[in-house]
Amino acid sequence: MNERQQGHSQSLHSTNFINGQWVDSEQSIHVENPANGDLVGTIARAMPLHVDQAVAAARKCQNERLMSGMAPYERMQLLHRIAGEIRALATRGGKLLCLENGKPLSAAQWEFEEAARYFEYYAGMADKIEGKSIPLGDGLVDFTEYEPFGVSAQVIPWNFPVSLVARSLAPALAAGNSVVIKSPELTPLAVALLGEAMVNAKVPAGAVNILCGYGHDTGAALVAHKDIDQIVFTGSVATGQAIMSSAVEHVVPCIMELGGKSAGVVFADANLDQVISSADAGNLFNSGQVCSAMSRLIVHESVYEEVKQRLVACFSAKTVGAGMDESDVTPILTKIQLDKIAAMCAHAKEQGAHCVVGGTPLDQEGYFMPPTIIEAQANTEIAQQEVFGPVLVLMKFKTTQQAYDLANGTEFGLVAGVFTKDLSLALQASRQLVAGQVFVNEWFAGGISTPFGGVGKSGFGREKGQEALYNYVRTKNIAIRLTS
Ligand code: NAD
Repeated sequence: MNERQQGHSQSLHSTNFINGQWVDSEQSIHVENPANGDLVGTIARAMPLHVDQAVAAARKCQNERLMSGMAPYERMQLLHRIAGEIRALATRGGKLLCLENGKPLSAAQWEFEEAARYFEYYAGMADKIEGKSIPLGDGLVDFTEYEPFGVSAQVIPWNFPVSLVARSLAPALAAGNSVVIKSPELTPLAVALLGEAMVNAKVPAGAVNILCGYGHDTGAALVAHKDIDQIVFTGSVATGQAIMSSAVEHVVPCIMELGGKSAGVVFADANLDQVISSADAGNLFNSGQVCSAMSRLIVHESVYEEVKQRLVACFSAKTVGAGMDESDVTPILTKIQLDKIAAMCAHAKEQGAHCVVGGTPLDQEGYFMPPTIIEAQANTEIAQQEVFGPVLVLMKFKTTQQAYDLANGTEFGLVAGVFTKDLSLALQASRQLVAGQVFVNEWFAGGISTPFGGVGKSGFGREKGQEALYNYVRTKNIAIRLTS
């Protein structure tokens, strides 16, 4: 059991999942509901000792070849079983995720569905990880095999914790790795439930280990561990930089999925209905707490005023409230993050930006920021740095080159958007925009099968799609001299 009732209260206590067992700790982390500050539950705080235990279990699983030696067909079946078990958790887990993260209940339940689909997608690849044969002439045979890295250490952020665990865990398991997950300390409870899915799906002991602890000790101990074979990190640039420094010591390869400041470019002929619905979803989904959020909209001067007016009407009509009420815009996760967003908006005004709507937190219980639109110059902090909240920066352009310069004028390059009916222009713009993925006429077009990842400070490596599977394998070449 990873849950127990404390005294007579109904509060939840979750534990770590190591080597197929639930492991408690002397210390706990309290998890609060950002909509009202209530305690949602507690989780056992993993300490460096637990990191050692989890890595040892994952290593033993590798040494005994419990995952890597399994017939690919059986790995496929295993991933399908995990998908089914995750789907079965959607009602219970979705409620928990809604409470701890603040997102709408339907979106929280959808995360479990999406997680299940990641496992199904990579189940289909588990028996198709094929090497190639390389001709070397008579007397020699040469071929490549893809082998799993071994122990994959995966550090997860809080904004889509269940879905992001699945995004990295599913391809890692499909390729035969064993995994140690460091779940986010702010939203660990729904992720802890995934341990139940692993037990019910009969995942070999040690193949999946889930730890919750703070980044500075548990996370740092995991990524610095001498016995891990790769690091998959999703989170902020600053943490990614710290992790890369630590990976240097043992020369451990990394995948870095970091932040963004993604821009949409609206050309004069764009379908404005598509622009508004994309800005709505792109900026306000998950209250803007999305790495690939549309955080800037760069609009041709001929349609700028119309776009602005329609955006103001759209953003002003949004309901702001708790996820349990299915509000359009739900709380920011923490007071610290809400204060940071408010400070960035205030600083923008000091730098001469014009706040068109929103801009200050709501004066009520919980951590609520209303949808905000700010007209700002390209060199201001609000137009350069990730806000991670429902704040859209609006900018105007005259020439196409100006649009590209504005869109590419930050240190980030996660996704970008183009709005035009002209297919040639859309393709030209897609090639000019510096980003790992470009959406044309619909923000967030794409899905599990479309590769995703950054350029510049948005990171490197690709998750999702067939390509991501190759993050989790390394090539071995076998060269054979035939005996005569
Ligand atoms: P964060 O960097 O603060 O934390 C992410 C994880 O790293 C947490 O589990 C944390 O405990 C851990 N951590 C912190 N310090 C560590 C250390 N020294 N060593 C090891 N682990 C450590 O990020 P966050 O606030 O949880 O998430 C928001 C950020 O994540 C945003 O910048 C967002 O853009 C980014 N993000 C990126 C993607 C993507 O796919 N590119 C997806 C989601 C979120």
